[in-house]
Amino acid sequence: GVSRRGVRGNFVPPIKSNGTGDGNMTSRISGKCDDTLDDSTKRCLEGLCGPDGELPEKLRNIEPRLIEHISNEIMDRDPNVRWDDIAGLEHAKKCVTEMVIWPLLRPDIFKGCRSPGRGLLLFGPPGTGKTMIGKAIAGEAKATFFYISASSLTSKWIGEGEKLVRALFGVASCRQPAVIFVDEIDSLLSQRKSEGEHESSRRLKTQFLIEMEGFDSGNEQVLLIGATNRPQELDEAARRRLTKRLYIPLPSSEARAWIIRNLLDKDGLFMLTKEEIDTICDKTEGYSGSDMKNLVKDASMGPLREALKQGIEITKLNKEDMRPVALQDFMDALKEVRRSVSSNELGAYEKWNEQFGSLS
Ligand code: ADP
Repeated sequence: GVSRRGVRGNFVPPIKSNGTGDGNMTSRISGKCDDTLDDSTKRCLEGLCGPDGELPEKLRNIEPRLIEHISNEIMDRDPNVRWDDIAGLEHAKKCVTEMVIWPLLRPDIFKGCRSPGRGLLLFGPPGTGKTMIGKAIAGEAKATFFYISASSLTSKWIGEGEKLVRALFGVASCRQPAVIFVDEIDSLLSQRKSEGEHESSRRLKTQFLIEMEGFDSGNEQVLLIGATNRPQELDEAARRRLTKRLYIPLPSSEARAWIIRNLLDKDGLFMLTKEEIDTICDKTEGYSGSDMKNLVKDASMGPLREALKQGIEITKLNKEDMRPVALQDFMDALKEVRRSVSSNELGAYEKWNEQFGSLS
């Protein structure tokens, strides 16, 4: 295997206790490098210290600024999505509950031959709820949620992605149970050797696979969820580590109706009849969840646009005087908001699903 130290970049001296035993974590953390750490970084490191006031082993040789970035930008303590916010996808919800949520809630039962896979792939067209599922998992399993887009690792963190990945897995392991959601995972674990693929992106991929291997063998309560619109790009090694592969398809007609009702209801704007909803659903075949959201947004502007057209000034507009959102608003919106996924693309997902997808 590849040695962890071998692929490591700049080595930062471990942060050690200064051994005063006074329980003052700030002084312990900053014992070595108090001049370089500002208050927010110190606070962040303190939050990760164990009861003994020591930084956990895994974080000791990771640069504090990376730990801080993970804690502040990547970690989301309250992802705020529930199962009930997600339309349709009953099959995916059921699979995920069994293979992910129960094990995170009851690690004592899910061990040995019941031990769950630690890698889940959600694939399908964009805007179908993959990120929502990731957040809902974290919420339902009372886990800490980490969200990172793989393209930011290769673009924004050029040359540092590898260090950031170590920091990410390190912090997650200190915040168990944890869910690490990697969006666009194909750009990280792609099989294609991109034109002039940099040494650094190869190292990044290696580091990522090492980290996954690491928590796969241990008893960690850390789950990795990868999401992709391009499952075809994943190589064999990536597929092997993402043991469950769930197809997240476009919403059914019922799910589309649900999204319309749910979004309008939230604002007390829902006034459509069953027939009108059916009409809209017939005309939105092939729309993704996010297309539906955009459609509702556009339609909900209808009554406002109409009022303004009648010469009422926006500052004088009485909310109560506005009519509810009507079928015609949706008809107008349908001209503006088109489906974003082509049928060709859908065929490719279905094919990949048949070949590599998990059916249960
Ligand atoms: P992706 O599959 O690309 O990760 P997201 O989960 O980010 O898609 O969804 C984008 C937005 O589209 C969501 O914030 C939500 O408003 C809407 N959406 C997509 N799918 C669904 C769904 N199944 N139920 C409800 N809303 C959805």
